[in-house]
Amino acid sequence: MLSKYLIIGSGFSGAVLAHELAKNSGCHIDVWEERNHIAGNCHTERDEETGIMVHQYGPHIFNTNKKEIWDYVNSFTEFIPYVHRVKAMYSGKVYTLPVNLLTLNQFFNKTFTPSTAKEFLKTLGDKNIIEPKNFEEQALSFIGKELYKAFFYGYTKKQWGAEPKELPASVLKRIPVRFNYDDNYHNNFFTGIPKEGYSRLIESLLDHPSIRIYLNKKFVPAAGVNEYDHIFYTGPIDAYFNYEFGRLGYRTVTFESSVQDGDFQGTAQMNYCDEEIPYTRITEHKHFTPWESHEKTIIFKEFSKETEVNDIPYYPKRLQKDKILLTKYRQKAALLSNVSFLGRLATYRYMDMHNVIGEAIDFSKSFLKAVSSSSPRPVFPNKED
Ligand code: UDP
Repeated sequence: MLSKYLIIGSGFSGAVLAHELAKNSGCHIDVWEERNHIAGNCHTERDEETGIMVHQYGPHIFNTNKKEIWDYVNSFTEFIPYVHRVKAMYSGKVYTLPVNLLTLNQFFNKTFTPSTAKEFLKTLGDKNIIEPKNFEEQALSFIGKELYKAFFYGYTKKQWGAEPKELPASVLKRIPVRFNYDDNYHNNFFTGIPKEGYSRLIESLLDHPSIRIYLNKKFVPAAGVNEYDHIFYTGPIDAYFNYEFGRLGYRTVTFESSVQDGDFQGTAQMNYCDEEIPYTRITEHKHFTPWESHEKTIIFKEFSKETEVNDIPYYPKRLQKDKILLTKYRQKAALLSNVSFLGRLATYRYMDMHNVIGEAIDFSKSFLKAVSSSSPRPVFPNKED
């Protein structure tokens, strides 16, 4: 008899896993999605009034250095090359991010060359910090107080609702510092936006005769589901265990959207780094599709807050107390023999889309290998970090 698998969630993890399992094992797959649309937080939809493709849950820019992942996503939908260039407002002035030669020259009112800028930055870094243990130390040791305060302290405090010294250094390491005029926000070589949006890509991943999608279908672990050989869960791990040990910390974001005429800010993303400004950034969606033209524009002012009971979790905070809880949940999960936990929410990590995709492909392979050799099935794709 063919195996029957249940996948909870239709974001990148769930959709890639469904696709790979359907393609490589000939099993039946049901995907349960609690929202009324597929694609999780990557969901995109054309705004009815303006015709603009809107990233409903905030800006997503696909970028990767792995050619095989780039080819993979391009095989499901057309991508158009797009380079993300972020601007930052601080104290009434506009700068370019990530910190690059132009930012340094504007900020310090200088005309540095790459080598003089590098020398200068060395004089700013705090030399007493040998091994940065958190976000703040990482920033101070590398770029010094002034740049840290301008571009990172206020933004980070608003974004995470915590002092940057409580946050891991890895969050800052996402953003490069450059000593040339390259203002591409990402370091990865392949970067683009799906021409018809992310939901089209997910739709295409799920388009297989063995995959059935159920929208508005909530999974309640305690209720049990017996008809499946295995469950792949991509929701929050603490929710799976009914928050038995307490809630993991997540930040959620809310948007204040408005439609206006013309061009609001001339770019897709403007960050607001002053602590006193309540929002973190403004996204102007039509700039993600420069190949389209629209008379009107739609903007999202983004606010960050702690996740409460009915909020959608976005960013795992990973504070010390969260990591202790995570260990408990992972230990409990490891005792289950027919459930696997996959993706950003179920593994409680800040992951980019290309990593989520790569991990889901690899996980499908190790899962099918375990099934074919009757070995224990993998529970997580990663070791705890
Ligand atoms: N960050 C900041 N100032 C900025 C942009 C980012 O301090 O102008 C910090 C902030 O802590 C943020 C992290 O860098 O959470 C990662 O930024 P990224 O732009 O990668 O965040 P995402 O787009 O995933 O929200």
